[in-house]
Amino acid sequence: MSRTYSIACTQCKKSLWVAQGHGYPKPERLTFYSGEPETMRALTQFLIDHFQHPLVFDDNCEGGLDDYEDVTPGLEG
Ligand SMILES: [Zn+2]
Repeated sequence: MSRTYSIACTQCKKSLWVAQGHGYPKPERLTFYSGEPETMRALTQFLIDHFQHPLVFDDNCEGGLDDYEDVTPGLEG
């Protein structure tokens, strides 16, 4: 089963889905969404918005990001 991974700001409690992979707790294989322009734009904006904030890279399913707002494009609604 593939898992989703997000970069998240622990200060603002926002997360952005950036990769898919396998392995738990640490991903052994990871596909980063570098080929998706929309994801890369969202990542760029995320890094600007959270400049100098504490960021973590974590598992969406088990990593304790439940109380984070997911700001991934296309997920709203
Ligand atoms: Zn932040």
